[in-house]
Amino acid sequence: MREKQVLPVVVVGLTAALVAVITLWTLDRVEGPASAAASQDGPVEVIEWKLVTTWPKGLPGLGAAPENFARRVNEASGGRLRIKVFGAGEIVPAFEVFDAVSRGVAEAGHGAAYYWKGKIPASVFYTAVPFGMTAQEANGWLHYGGGLELWRELYAPFGVVPFAGGSTGVQMAGWFNIRLNNRADLEGLKMRIPGLAGEVFDAAGGSAVRIAGGEVYTSMQTGVIDAVEWVGPYNDRTLGLMEVGDYYYYPGWHEPGAMLETIVNAEALAALPEDLQAIVRVAARATNTDMLDDFTANNSESLQILLTEFDTEVLPLPDDVMDALYESSQVAIEALVNADPMAKKIAASYFAFATKVRTYHEISERAYLNGRNRLLPPVSLTAQSAE
Ligand code: CA
Repeated sequence: MREKQVLPVVVVGLTAALVAVITLWTLDRVEGPASAAASQDGPVEVIEWKLVTTWPKGLPGLGAAPENFARRVNEASGGRLRIKVFGAGEIVPAFEVFDAVSRGVAEAGHGAAYYWKGKIPASVFYTAVPFGMTAQEANGWLHYGGGLELWRELYAPFGVVPFAGGSTGVQMAGWFNIRLNNRADLEGLKMRIPGLAGEVFDAAGGSAVRIAGGEVYTSMQTGVIDAVEWVGPYNDRTLGLMEVGDYYYYPGWHEPGAMLETIVNAEALAALPEDLQAIVRVAARATNTDMLDDFTANNSESLQILLTEFDTEVLPLPDDVMDALYESSQVAIEALVNADPMAKKIAASYFAFATKVRTYHEISERAYLNGRNRLLPPVSLTAQSAE
């Protein structure tokens, strides 16, 4: 009698296990903490968005930010808003991301505002201003100093809503295949350097070239360009730039706190239920913070690897070169502000904030760093520093 009862119990047990496995597999497939297909109140609407980026698919750092944003939205919404991320060239090329989001080809995008300066000259204030604010300072301006409101005003005619989309911190000046001694060495130098800094570089005697990230390695290797700025140790190492550049110069005068952007089609955002709109806002803000953390940790790590494994020669830009670039920056910023009313309006806000925060940071950030430097052992930019 007892043996006859065992079979149904085993069958029921196996069936239950199979159902559990299939359920878990299905949940895993939608990459969400819960299947949004149904709830106690019936079917739940699942909204799917495409997010296009200016970065090669899978690029760490810059490219990780939109992936993080999509994951956070998916998790926080319980799978009700699913965002699929596409790298540069998968739906649209890198430099068409803004138009794609504006036209609704994709609901969202991630990139750098200064890529759109041909269409929106004032957009450069939302990536980098040469000799401008650091990441910490720029985030203060954006979120508590009126910067974000002006950014929204700037993009409103295009039906695009911007969010701060991360920051790399101070970048490196870039990889150069000649040694720089003074400003005369900039003459005729072909360099990949985008944004307002490109105009500054031209004015200082160089020749700025506009190339997306996916092409910079080959352009350096084949001699199409003599120099390239990309980001810093973390992302430059990912692109293999230490293999094609001889000297690695600092500091990133041109991108002292380069900000990225998460952009959303205004109609698509407005069409979301209020709680999903809130999730988009919170996920964007979290992604913004997370990127700076990622770069802070990984730039430090990658610098040591460049020094120890690649013997990268890391050099400061000579004062005369910095002076020339600063002088050209002032000319380029003045020309931009005089030619474009929105640039003038944004510049007034940006530089008013920059002046105030610089005064405060003189007695806080800088005073502290100076004090720490005086007391701690000196840092070394040679291989020994990692040993
Ligand atoms: Ca850069």
